[in-house]
Amino acid sequence: MSNVFSIAIDGPAGAGKSTMAKALAKALGAMYLDTGAMYRAFGLFMLRKGAVNDAAAVAKCVEDVDIAVRFVDGAQRLYLSGEDVTDAIRVPEVSMAASTVSAVPQVRERMVALQRKIAEGQNVVMDGRDIGTKVLPNATLKIYLTASAEERARRRCKELEEKGKAEPYEQVLRDMIQRDYQDTHRAASPLQPAEDAVHVDTSDLTIEESVALMKKMADEAIGKH
Ligand code: C5P
Repeated sequence: MSNVFSIAIDGPAGAGKSTMAKALAKALGAMYLDTGAMYRAFGLFMLRKGAVNDAAAVAKCVEDVDIAVRFVDGAQRLYLSGEDVTDAIRVPEVSMAASTVSAVPQVRERMVALQRKIAEGQNVVMDGRDIGTKVLPNATLKIYLTASAEERARRRCKELEEKGKAEPYEQVLRDMIQRDYQDTHRAASPLQPAEDAVHVDTSDLTIEESVALMKKMADEAIGKH
């Protein structure tokens, strides 16, 4: 029996992981760690170097890239060599770069180590692709969040539009399918549900309904552990 709990949330791009994980963490009074943001920051670093597709350069650069996660007024911010890149990493080009660099084993090793260190000894809700399978294999509760590709693309379009960065639906759907493919077919920690994960399909649920369901599951799991 441990006195801290951890909730692992995995799933494909656009399933609502970050929105729901953030709300769940708030409801549980736990820390929320968005691990995708860390891969995005490194993806941006390699984009700026013009070497996203050079696996040897990616493996070399990850050794000493300066990526820091800080919490400002409870919100997670990402720093690259001291520069706040929290907003710069939220563009489609960086999404794809993150997916590409995250397939390199050395990148995963460094990020997983960083993620475990940040969460150590705290009640945490973490979301990503390999949280239940790799980062927190002993998590108190593992949730695998999904929604249809069309619904995920619709949600992503709305999000981009709200940020004034609208993209055509067809393009967003195409990118999403490509990113799902890359994430599920890579050799190193491919996106897959942990054997003991509870599957939650949010296609027909509102954010509030999804969070309420997850909170109920979390309360039960925390009560038992
Ligand atoms: O979650 P988000 O869409 O921000 O993640 C960006 C990319 O980072 C994903 O497409 C995935 O390739 C990678 N990622 C990962 N492992 C994680 C989180 C994200 O490989 N735990």
